[in-house]
Amino acid sequence: MDFKLSKEQEMIQKAAREFAEKSIRPIAGQIEKEGMIPAEIMQGMADLELFGIAYPEEYGGTGAGYVCYVLAAEQIAQASSSVAGVYSVHYLGTSAIASFGSPEQKAKYLPLAGSGEKISSFAFTEPGTGSDPKQITTVAIRDGDDYVINGVKRFISAAYLEGPIVIFARDSETGHPTALLVDKFCPGYSVSEPWKKIGLHGSKVVDVYLKDVRVPASAVLGPKGQGYQVLQAGISFGKVGMCAGSLGGMQAALDASIKYAKEKSHREGTIAKFPTIQVAIAKMAEKVEASRWLTYRLAWLADNTTDLISFAKMAAMTKAFVAEAGVDVARLAVGVHGSYGLMDDYEVSHIYCDAIISEQTEGVADMQRLITGGSLLR
Ligand SMILES: Cc1cc2nc3c(=O)[nH]c(=O)nc-3n(C[C@H](O)[C@H](O)[C@H](O)COP(=O)(O)OP(=O)(O)OC[C@H]3O[C@@H](n4cnc5c(N)ncnc54)[C@H](O)[C@@H]3O)c2cc1C
Repeated sequence: MDFKLSKEQEMIQKAAREFAEKSIRPIAGQIEKEGMIPAEIMQGMADLELFGIAYPEEYGGTGAGYVCYVLAAEQIAQASSSVAGVYSVHYLGTSAIASFGSPEQKAKYLPLAGSGEKISSFAFTEPGTGSDPKQITTVAIRDGDDYVINGVKRFISAAYLEGPIVIFARDSETGHPTALLVDKFCPGYSVSEPWKKIGLHGSKVVDVYLKDVRVPASAVLGPKGQGYQVLQAGISFGKVGMCAGSLGGMQAALDASIKYAKEKSHREGTIAKFPTIQVAIAKMAEKVEASRWLTYRLAWLADNTTDLISFAKMAAMTKAFVAEAGVDVARLAVGVHGSYGLMDDYEVSHIYCDAIISEQTEGVADMQRLITGGSLLR
């Protein structure tokens, strides 16, 4: 067992940290206020080859792997959860293509996704359900050599940015959910105004309207009628990025709390002298450390495992723990800051809202526990 990062991993972590500190952190507030990530940030990440970091070189990636991806995403999330959010959903969609795509699909989509020219999305949730594939109502009706897709997808990240989107629809031949690859903004594709949510304002979610969207039969991703398998695997890889995002937020909350505790005066000293503050900081540090190693291990498994079922279980366990720890750490950080922690001007108030969101997305925490508990009790 070796807990030491390789030279390459250290280099990528350092490059991402420097970029996040120099280019993202100074405008993190602006990103939240304006609800958009400037093109220069996306370009800067593309220049560092971060979008293709986990994908094979033959498809335009760097082949550095998921551990490097997590190291980079963690640094980015420390500066802005929104930028990390878009980075993570892009990986969610692209991972499904990398895992299940035919050679033609990979050749068509991975190079552009890997260079950051196109941003991938992954659309499962509908107005009726976000957790249950049996309830999806979007349909893909076979028509000659094509499928015609109709339905509505809800709360879809990055669906307003050009690129591929993985759509889950019930196909007319098997009657089961099937994953299909669609180009965003093709005829029949449109999106709603962004939802107004409590945080992650720079990583918007929209509803996607699919009206007679026609795709060739070759757009099916993975086995027909087995969209659930694509969903489970895709979301499991997506959870690696979700955990890295939570981890970055937690570290930022801990750093801000240590700084605040050492600066906030109380009589002749600062609030850092209080045992209550010390215990809060210690609890935060414990959760950050535990989350970090669980997340790194999940990334290592993403690079090394071929057993997708075991990986899905580990991803569920890690995501439930890390997302909940993110909320705990953010709440403790707000406590260390007192009323200032509730103010918009203070970073920890945003981290808290972002952490609550992470707990509910890409698998609600309790649903993750049902996966873990169910497999342990089988
Ligand atoms: C910022 C953000 C980004 C998002 N991005 C995407 C995206 O890119 N793509 C996408 O497809 N979706 C996306 N979503 C949607 C999100 O993943 C879903 O909303 C989420 O999975 C929960 O679905 P739901 O809201 O329909 O809740 P439901 O599935 O209705 O669940 C509601 C509650 O019931 C519980 N519950 C549900 N079923 C069961 C069960 N069988 N047993 C026990 N308890 C159960 C859940 O734990 C939860 O507490 C995003 C949401 C947000 C807020």
